Amino acid sequence: MQYCPKCKIHIRGDKRCCPLCEGSIEGNPDNPAFPTLKKRRYPIRLMFKICLFLFVIVEVVSMMIHIMTGFRFHLPVLFMMWAPFVLLDLCVALYYRGNIIKLISYQAYAVMAVCAFIDYGDGKMGWSLNWIIPATLLSLTIVTIIIGYGVGLRLVDYMIYLLVDVILAVLQLIPVLLGINRVPYMAIASVGIMLVVAAFVVIFRPRELGNAFSKYMNM
Ligand SMILES: [Zn+2]
Repeated sequence: MQYCPKCKIHIRGDKRCCPLCEGSIEGNPDNPAFPTLKKRRYPIRLMFKICLFLFVIVEVVSMMIHIMTGFRFHLPVLFMMWAPFVLLDLCVALYYRGNIIKLISYQAYAVMAVCAFIDYGDGKMGWSLNWIIPATLLSLTIVTIIIGYGVGLRLVDYMIYLLVDVILAVLQLIPVLLGINRVPYMAIASVGIMLVVAAFVVIFRPRELGNAFSKYMNM
């Protein structure tokens, strides 16, 4: 504890001078009453700028290679098309770095949307519906549950993500029933597993389900 010989008072904390007379004090300072937060080493704005800069480099180099190789190869074009998505993904990751389940969920939704878009561009609507989307939804659900338990979150806090996953999984039945998804095994399996997960939550954790509903409905 510090001490002001002039005012004859003891001073708590870590002060440079006496709070009464502003004179010099003696003694050793205490630990500060409030914890001092460490400064983030890399400011978020700088990270965004680095991502943007790398994106520009990839675009420019890809274009130069494409021109130099006489427009013969598709790989540079592919890089140029993918780079914006990677940039977007990095920005989302930086923005949501505080909530890992949210981050992973949004990334998975983005991956599924991009795959469906590319697949649709091919004109067949095949592999994304057959494999990518059901597999992504399943792994997303498993990862969400593992992280939820691992980080020690309450079920209420990540129930909404599980709910969205279940809804998305059930939506897969539409292309199956319409005959658009011609290899529907994975999709149907994922719907079944997700319904089992949903049933588990409804039967064994009804209170948390109710809490989650009231939490998100009141917002
Ligand atoms: Zn003093």
